[in-house]
Amino acid sequence: MTTLGDVVSALEAVYPPGTAESWDAVGLVCGDRAEPVSTALFCVDVTQSTVDEAVEVGAQLLVAHHPLLLRGVTGVPADDPKGALVHRLIRTGIGLFTAHTNADAANPGVSDALAEALGLTVTGPLTPASDRELDVLTTYVPRADAEAVLAALHAAGAGTLGDYRDTAWVVDGTGRFRPVGGANPTIGALGELEQVAETRIEIVLDRRLRASVVAALRAAHPYEEVAFNLNEIAALPGDTGIGRIGELPEPEPLRVFADRVAAALPATAWGVRAAGDPERPIRRVAVCGGSGDGYLAAARRAGVDAYVTSDLRHHPAGDHLAAGGPALVDVAHWAGEWPWCGQAAGVVTTAFGGTVKALVSARRTDPWTVGATTKSGGPHK
Ligand SMILES: [Zn+2]
Repeated sequence: MTTLGDVVSALEAVYPPGTAESWDAVGLVCGDRAEPVSTALFCVDVTQSTVDEAVEVGAQLLVAHHPLLLRGVTGVPADDPKGALVHRLIRTGIGLFTAHTNADAANPGVSDALAEALGLTVTGPLTPASDRELDVLTTYVPRADAEAVLAALHAAGAGTLGDYRDTAWVVDGTGRFRPVGGANPTIGALGELEQVAETRIEIVLDRRLRASVVAALRAAHPYEEVAFNLNEIAALPGDTGIGRIGELPEPEPLRVFADRVAAALPATAWGVRAAGDPERPIRRVAVCGGSGDGYLAAARRAGVDAYVTSDLRHHPAGDHLAAGGPALVDVAHWAGEWPWCGQAAGVVTTAFGGTVKALVSARRTDPWTVGATTKSGGPHK
């Protein structure tokens, strides 16, 4: 039997909740981790329509990209539209799990699914997340105390690198000092130059542990004045982050590329629109599932031929094109993120294929329902 907790763990292994933006609200919204799951439905938005679908397909779990409850909530009364959905989910025994910006940042994530749907070969993220936030601590300890200080630093969490624990680099040397004034030296005498056999310890630490590791060093080190350097290790761009850059096998004109995008994504009332010279050759492409206004400058810096995203506005789009940026392809927000449903369903199929049926929602939750084509000959030419 596969439990809801098992499925949530499998999804969180691929979309770690710790990589979500600080303002986001991801994870299990409702549901009992101990209950069995045999069918899970994957969708972009939790709406009346997708909850209906979850009930109809007999799902015990609905996995959504967009959080249902993003802002602070103090209640879920059934006469509130979102509260009503929570009531219905709980009454029908369906858990709700969301993976939002953690699914955007993951590799593979939301934009990989979009890039793959468009036939792009991904070469890297559009805005790489830093792959590590580490400090390096260097300190000098009398040789006899080196092991005890190292043990205290390791106990405080320093020296952990990936799957390696208790790492350090040590070398023996000579420390020199002359205690003066009001010093109360552990070794040596006031006014005398002292030379001590010391061990130099270099150890890495997660930057978030900085204060507690230095406190552990001070507590374990025998000296009155503990000599140490603490330096930040420069970050390198990692292979995760928002958006992706990819390449088409062959260049094609923007108008053809826009047709490719329209054919690859589920149909919406508004369809796909593109900005820029229709004959512009497109080969290198940036994509960003969801609202991508904020990454126009990143797309321009990346030097791509086109940028595919959603929710682009008149002024930022116009300014971007005037500044010589890549052609823009604007797709419905829901359509651009929908390919992720198949990716996330694949995670569950791979983990529990024999016991959990992972279904992708067939409901269109794009809010726009009518797309009327304007006629020529109106008031503006
Ligand atoms: Zn979105």
